[in-house]
Amino acid sequence: MKIIEKSEVASLTTMKIGGVADRVCFPASTEELICLMDSVRSGNEPWSLIGGGSNVLVSSHDIPGTVICTTGLNWIEQIGRDLLFAGAGVRLPRLSAYAAKLGLSGMEFFEGIPGTVGGAVVMNAGAHGHSTSQILESVTILNLKTGKIEVLTHKDIQFGYRMSSVNPSEQIVICGRFRMLPDTEASIKSRMKENNLARQRTQPIKDPSAGCTFSNPIEINIPAGKLLDSIGAKNWRIGSAQVSSMHANFIINLGNASSQDVCKLITKMQEAAKEKYNILLKPEIKPIGVFDKSEAIIWTNSDQTVTSSFIITR
Ligand SMILES: Cc1cc2nc3c(=O)[nH]c(=O)nc-3n(C[C@H](O)[C@H](O)[C@H](O)COP(=O)(O)OP(=O)(O)OC[C@H]3O[C@@H](n4cnc5c(N)ncnc54)[C@H](O)[C@@H]3O)c2cc1C
Repeated sequence: MKIIEKSEVASLTTMKIGGVADRVCFPASTEELICLMDSVRSGNEPWSLIGGGSNVLVSSHDIPGTVICTTGLNWIEQIGRDLLFAGAGVRLPRLSAYAAKLGLSGMEFFEGIPGTVGGAVVMNAGAHGHSTSQILESVTILNLKTGKIEVLTHKDIQFGYRMSSVNPSEQIVICGRFRMLPDTEASIKSRMKENNLARQRTQPIKDPSAGCTFSNPIEINIPAGKLLDSIGAKNWRIGSAQVSSMHANFIINLGNASSQDVCKLITKMQEAAKEKYNILLKPEIKPIGVFDKSEAIIWTNSDQTVTSSFIITR
């Protein structure tokens, strides 16, 4: 297994923020993942898990313990005509391109989402009116409570808007099984192109970011981006972290932003939304590593229990 000691995590994230981890491990098979988790957990050391690192804010402080990156779990297999099996670390655009070549439709919305299968299951990633839960048939997980490999079918998992009941602190996604519909490669690719163009028009895809900072609030029928735009948040800047001028729900890294810059900006955005709309914007991005208590509040106040074991407060 590839193991890098004292490795900077920033390069494994789309926001390009993250301190030095004691080690980063890249399991390349289910067996390697099981062995790694046995050893990490018996050593009782902190650990955290990332896929494409496209929906996380990693602390700029040193990160104690092991960061597990799943991108080595990258196999894709077609079963019968309409089923695709993909390892947790397969990048979503690669998977949708693979499906298109086989004439399999259903994953066009993955085009342009820079995450992996594991992250897409946990986050119920979606776009253009589609979401992962609509095509996912089952997932194979490593259950850390029992130490066993289990298959969860669609009905075993609760899905919501950008969330699922799969809890990364206890359940590591190993692979997903997706049900697809046959179509021509040309029409699938044309939908993918349309999706891409829509994204290019509305999102700062060339700047380092972690995608949408906040989930859309359920209390009010205004998307978080529009709400923040109405407050005048575009271009707000703290250090090298800036609210995108293109989309007010994206925080971009202008070069050397730290997690502290991002946390301050998130707090400012939350405070402004609270003042104008009396709404607590809940972060969609998940924290990993060491955060001050005043920063961790961003997540703990918003009932973000899922990844709390990946935050170490100080
Ligand atoms: C430019 C840009 C555009 C984006 N557009 C969209 C969009 O349109 N729609 C959308 O939904 N999202 C979007 N995102 C956010 C992000 O890409 C998705 O949420 C994606 O599904 C995250 O996958 P990941 O592998 O990067 O997860 P990570 O960011 O690595 O991790 C996210 C969470 O999943 C957990 N996790 C990761 N892998 C596993 C695993 N194998 N098992 C268990 N837990 C795991 C992590 O511990 C963490 O809690 C965008 C991001 C960017 C930067």
